[in-house]
Amino acid sequence: MRGKTVLVRTDFNVPMSGPDEERVITDDFRIRAALLTITWLTQRGARVVCASHLGRPKGTPTAKYSMAPVRARLAELAPGVELLENLRFEPGEEGNDPNMVTRLVSGIDMYVNDAFGAAHRAHASIVGPPRTLPSAAGRLIQREVEVIDGLRTNPKRPFVAVLGGAKVSDKLGVIDALVSMCDQLLIGGGMCFTFLAAQGHPVGDSICERDHVDHCRELLAKHSSMVLPEDIIGVDADGVYATFGRRLPDGAKGMDIGPGTAAAFSDAIMDARSVFWNGPMGVFEDARFAKGTRTVAQAMADTKAFTVVGGGDSAAALAQFGLDDEVDHVSTGGGASLEFLEFGDLPGLKALREAPNVK
Ligand code: ADP
Ligand code: MG
Repeated sequence: MRGKTVLVRTDFNVPMSGPDEERVITDDFRIRAALLTITWLTQRGARVVCASHLGRPKGTPTAKYSMAPVRARLAELAPGVELLENLRFEPGEEGNDPNMVTRLVSGIDMYVNDAFGAAHRAHASIVGPPRTLPSAAGRLIQREVEVIDGLRTNPKRPFVAVLGGAKVSDKLGVIDALVSMCDQLLIGGGMCFTFLAAQGHPVGDSICERDHVDHCRELLAKHSSMVLPEDIIGVDADGVYATFGRRLPDGAKGMDIGPGTAAAFSDAIMDARSVFWNGPMGVFEDARFAKGTRTVAQAMADTKAFTVVGGGDSAAALAQFGLDDEVDHVSTGGGASLEFLEFGDLPGLKALREAPNVK
């Protein structure tokens, strides 16, 4: 690749703060993580042009989502590497417009996708370049695929999955897939109330998706591996902090798994040989309701099992507790990791396999 120009689709969607015109990067982890692939290429004499999205500018350029701060940081870490402006400033990116693809590949010899977090989207920069350019997966994507595909196809058993988060509707697909892969599926977070309702328990004012109660009931009837909370922490009808059993009184709101459930989940994680965790066990952003998530995070850190965490909020919780270095793999893609677990493939991976140098 000496003297060749390589377009690298990176995930530089970094957290930022500050006023729109003077945004500062609050965590450059994603830029540093991309260096693995970038330096591999530059050491072999390639000229590297990176391209990424940042935030959700919805097809219009705005100062808030300018790549300038990312470009400045990248220049410090990898001098000479170029970075295009935010891909999502162009409506053609999310619209997968052929004209956008043509502009992206002009002057480019080869393509590398290392943006796992965007690989589940059939966007122009993900599926377009591999139609014409010799293409490859980057090191981050390679690792994600090895880890998650390993869980799907050949997990060390017992394989325990822990799912939480706000809404069950976001995750029904992955629950359906995971339940037949794993030995135990532990359900916490807001989604547990739709399952508890399916068992006929009153859930008070907890978040509960009535439209999905039937689906949850079928899952519970079919799979004895599913484990629901036995106790719940929340607030009663007067807003007072309280611990409940499985049945919540009128007006009560479940906000976290209770101590008995947290201990049981922790035991299951400690006894497992592989664990996948997605979704906080409660509203962990509020310290009163963070105990369940913290207990699960600590068990993930302490267990001898192979541990994988997917999901933006779960990863944030882990980092908040200072435990992100204690698990084996934190996926860089929330939605992408769930979709890959569910289907065993992603549009971005399929596109790479169909590139002219591969097929
Ligand atoms: P991830 O990003 O890890 O996939 P989700 O986005 O699915 O996770 O869910 C994270 C959100 O779920 C958090 O903001 C958390 O506050 C919320 N949540 C967890 N438990 C509850 C609950 N009992 N009621 C309401 N929201 C909850
Ligand atoms: Mg989330």
